[in-house]
Amino acid sequence: MLNTLRKIVQEVNSAKDLKSALGIIVLRVKEAMGSQVCSVYLLDPETNRFVLMASEGLNKRSIGKVSMAPNEGLVGLVGTREEPLNLENAADHPRYRYFAETGEEKFASFLGAPIIHHRRVVGVLVIQQKERRQFDEGEEAFLVTMSAQLAGVIAHAEATGSIRGLGRQGKGIQEARFVGVPGSPGAAVGRAVVMLPPADLEVVPDKAVDDIDAELKLFQNALEGVRDDMRKLSAKLATQLRPEERALFDVYLMMLEDAALGGEVTEVIKTGQWAQGALRQVVGEHVNRFELMDDDYLRERASDVKDLGRRLLAYLQEARSQSLVYADNTILVSEELTPAMLGEVPEGKLVGLVSVLGSGNSHVAILARAMGIPTVMGLVDLPYSKVDGIELIVDGYKGEVFTNPSEVLRKQYSEVVEEERQLAQGLDALRELPCVTPDGHRMPLWVNTGLLADVARAQQRGAEGVGLYRTEVPFMIQQRFPSEKEQLAIYREQLASFHPLPVTMRTLDIGGDKALSYFPIKEENPFLGWRGIRVTLDHPEIFLVQTRAMLKASEGLNNLRILLPMISGIHELEEALHLIHRAWGEVRDEGTDVPMPPVGVMVEIPAAVYQTKELARQVDFLSVGSNDLTQYLLAVDRNNPRVADLYDYLHPAVLQALNTVVRDAHGEGKPVSICGEMAGDPAAAILLMAMGFDSLSMNATNLPKVKWMLRQVNMSKAKELLADALSHDNPQVIHSSLQLALKNLGLARMIGPGANKTL
Ligand code: PEP
Ligand code: MG
Repeated sequence: MLNTLRKIVQEVNSAKDLKSALGIIVLRVKEAMGSQVCSVYLLDPETNRFVLMASEGLNKRSIGKVSMAPNEGLVGLVGTREEPLNLENAADHPRYRYFAETGEEKFASFLGAPIIHHRRVVGVLVIQQKERRQFDEGEEAFLVTMSAQLAGVIAHAEATGSIRGLGRQGKGIQEARFVGVPGSPGAAVGRAVVMLPPADLEVVPDKAVDDIDAELKLFQNALEGVRDDMRKLSAKLATQLRPEERALFDVYLMMLEDAALGGEVTEVIKTGQWAQGALRQVVGEHVNRFELMDDDYLRERASDVKDLGRRLLAYLQEARSQSLVYADNTILVSEELTPAMLGEVPEGKLVGLVSVLGSGNSHVAILARAMGIPTVMGLVDLPYSKVDGIELIVDGYKGEVFTNPSEVLRKQYSEVVEEERQLAQGLDALRELPCVTPDGHRMPLWVNTGLLADVARAQQRGAEGVGLYRTEVPFMIQQRFPSEKEQLAIYREQLASFHPLPVTMRTLDIGGDKALSYFPIKEENPFLGWRGIRVTLDHPEIFLVQTRAMLKASEGLNNLRILLPMISGIHELEEALHLIHRAWGEVRDEGTDVPMPPVGVMVEIPAAVYQTKELARQVDFLSVGSNDLTQYLLAVDRNNPRVADLYDYLHPAVLQALNTVVRDAHGEGKPVSICGEMAGDPAAAILLMAMGFDSLSMNATNLPKVKWMLRQVNMSKAKELLADALSHDNPQVIHSSLQLALKNLGLARMIGPGANKTL
């Protein structure tokens, strides 16, 4: 059964459009279940009717014509109840409705299963049989499993069609809307550039080309390159492999011949497809054919073809990356955006970002916010490999992306872009003003940095210090661990740029979703795994080099503070403090005259919340990492778009924890700041100020918005709002009462599109 399911899904997945996908589904499910009819009805959102889209067994002429409202017929019943319906004789059911054009009077028994994608019913899958009989439990379970698996495939096929301006029934449609989660606020109108991870054949987009000869030449060069590599590899392994093992290389060489893969790719290029797209198509067909074979040996050959495809692609990509051109309004699209990708687009040309994986709390989204680039994350239904070169609108407020926008929509969004620009300009005037409430409470606003560009931005916006310098960012854009000298230069630049303001440097916080290409960590549960201080305590050489570089960089400036990430208990803190003292002793022995800098811990693991007092006694300051603290308190992976709506820093449990940390830190006489994204949310910042945080650290883009807000709200009012928020047990109520209170105070200006999730 499982094998049948797998085969059907795989075949449907490789269908070229929705129509053929549905055609394959009805044919294969009918065969697999031995039924006489299999049909798919899809819910048309415009008319709110279930339309018969494909059928094997019913009269073909009724396809696209027969439809029923959710309160009509058995199909409507399955759709509204969201449950399978298994009937021995359909005509006996009170909801049965007869459509003469389908010829279904011949069929007595009926089994229908809803097709549900992301909680939404998208259609109904039905099988019918002539004789009266109840389908058995196994058949029912098969149909339910089938429709659950097909939901995503149908959504994907539909989306692919809509990108090309095609509606369900092949009619032209204007724009298609894809929903993800907000990554970084703002709107952008631009052209998509799809960035692929190196040599991943499956995600290569289609692209039409005019200069076919140039593509053919590129492909010929790639073929030559791979042939050459194969021969060299074979010769190199001559002494280690037996001749029959080396025969594999001959097989590879044969596959590259004109009579095989090489020739087929050439033919597809001649139809006007670029070389990479042609390669994906041909390799995909071969791989599918092999994978569907029952013979184990032949099935294994699929991986040889894939390997060959990857090798050819690497040559083609290398040639392409040298000639990639970015439009002035580039919207970078990728399956999984990485910080390194952000750096590849020339300065000033990047206007928007779209990532299929990840959520608004992923680190790449944090960087995007720091850069002020509108971003949508978790766009799981976007067939992203197909959007290269087309016009897109990115709505980073709502987390939506539009393809093929209409003139009206484009105009609307261009106006939003302009409004944002003007709002930002208006806020520039705040730069020299202190962040002080009308009743005189002073709230220092610090900035989070990582990218080089953050320094200038922070200074333009009037930051009063750096509350979090994410040192892993410069590590992530390197090809290897930077040496002590290289690190020293990077840190010196940070410290000198902000001097005499304090700069809080966090020791390396890799792991989770922050990977170093040269230090791969493969884990089942990376956010609960080897992250932050756990990695660096296991590798004291990395930790020592980094702290030595920080200390040396601060010579003569003395504005360094060191911050330790992911501390879960006293033992880790003590070990880290020991290493920092050792590094300090070493650099002083080497003649660098620096005082011991203040050292702090991040409170971002629930265990640290309950040990605030004990931790506070051993350090000079604390800083709450509310991004991780929210993730760990609520057990919601900050990187997973599927649970992004459960991630909420205004959850009562998070508010209680923050309150506890401030109380306990102050009880020990130690200052406490907060450097998670929450601090940059103007509404949440009011609550944090009321809790008593000594400083708020945020991305430079949001700093003026927070300053504007806090300059309008009395501390006494903030305390009232906090008391109200803490009195509710429901996160939604906290959001709405805060929002309402701010509206009533006339502070709606920041509750516009420019505000964060809270508003
Ligand atoms: C946090 O967890 O809140 C934090 C500031 O650290 P990061 O986002 O880099 O994990
Ligand atoms: Mg963190």
